[in-house]
Amino acid sequence: MPGFLSELTGSFSTSSAQNPTVAIMEAAYADAGLDVRYINCEVPPARLADAVRGAIGMGWLGFNCSIPHKQAIIDYLDELAPSARIIGAVNTVINKDGHLTGENTDGQGFVESLRTVADPAGKQFVIFGAGGAARAIAVESALAGARSMTIVNRTVERGEELASLVDSHTPASARFEPWTPDFAIPEGTDIVINATSIGFHPNADQTLDVDPNTFVSGMVVADVVANPPMTRWLTAAQAAGCTPLTGLGMLVNQALVNARLWTGQTLNATVMHTALEQALDIRN
Ligand code: NDP
Repeated sequence: MPGFLSELTGSFSTSSAQNPTVAIMEAAYADAGLDVRYINCEVPPARLADAVRGAIGMGWLGFNCSIPHKQAIIDYLDELAPSARIIGAVNTVINKDGHLTGENTDGQGFVESLRTVADPAGKQFVIFGAGGAARAIAVESALAGARSMTIVNRTVERGEELASLVDSHTPASARFEPWTPDFAIPEGTDIVINATSIGFHPNADQTLDVDPNTFVSGMVVADVVANPPMTRWLTAAQAAGCTPLTGLGMLVNQALVNARLWTGQTLNATVMHTALEQALDIRN
């Protein structure tokens, strides 16, 4: 006789209505025949504590935390994974009988996506941005063996802080460079990443203030922006002979890592990609 009790996972954020992760997770759970649900929850900061207690009370396998809870959630956790501790932010919580462990899978998702086109080991990176996504990508890429990293950010203080964090807490060397107009990508760069929100829907006409003549054929050029996937930044890089990497891979791989942490199973990435494209109404 079939059971009527599903395992629960989900997400706590505000605003949550446009978060497509639920579509990816539910499609992949169903494809794997798992009786697990993913519930997208609107949780304002004042209710985060109640939401966490609720998840423990109901025996959830775990949950994601998105904006604005990625730092505040740390106060409610029993343990932090090493990279989440360095990054100082958590987007995935695993619940084992009320013992909560925080992970940061944004960066892990990026590195898994990057590995489909290049091995980060020994490579020279340039990262634009120093917010949550940039911090996760920089730390995880450094832990995956990146040789050196240049952080470029509009706000100097934030950029300097990230460069010094990577330099002092990981084996990679890192330095900050101010974002001067028509920024020239330094010679010898292997991997360039837009980790800012520039180009994100509905501002798809915006792009980074970078000299397109400094794209070099063979470079990997990545974007965190998943909607639209082919941003102006990636289109220009591809035209210059670079390998473009869209933000879709980061989103899907992050979801794959989350599901593995919660259920112990590796779900189907293709099912996730299709569900994400449908959810974002992307027509190739
Ligand atoms: P944050 O607000 O933490 O950081 C935003 C970053 O973008 C900062 O470095 C900010 O610079 C920079 N920035 C924003 N606007 C401009 C501008 N006009 N000119 C120059 N720099 C600018 O956001 P997150 O790091 O959380 O998110 C960034 C992007 O990453 C979003 O588009 C988000 O959707 C995407 N993302 C994608 C994921 C995926 O799986 N594909 C996962 C997580 C995030 P400053 O410090 O000067 O303000």
